[in-house]
Amino acid sequence: MAKLTEEEARAREEARAAKRRAQLEKHAVPCPHCQKSVLDHMTRCPYCGGALVPKGYAPMDEEKKRKVRNVCYIAGFAIAIVIVVLILVLR
Ligand SMILES: [Zn+2]
Repeated sequence: MAKLTEEEARAREEARAAKRRAQLEKHAVPCPHCQKSVLDHMTRCPYCGGALVPKGYAPMDEEKKRKVRNVCYIAGFAIAIVIVVLILVLR
């Protein structure tokens, strides 16, 4: 790879920084509480602490969350029993 001059390297770094800024600006939305710029995936404003509704993300409702948790507990318990039984049978 050809060695870059300091100026070329700086220009590349600036282009990269501008690209990063542009990507972030695409996701910047004003906070409905304090009007400061926040990112659209945030659930809470880092400036005023107000609740935000993240774009493209809906939090799971409590009933569904409870059901998923119960299924995981039951599955985990069943796996633990199978492991204990296998240890007792195979030794
Ligand atoms: Zn805010």
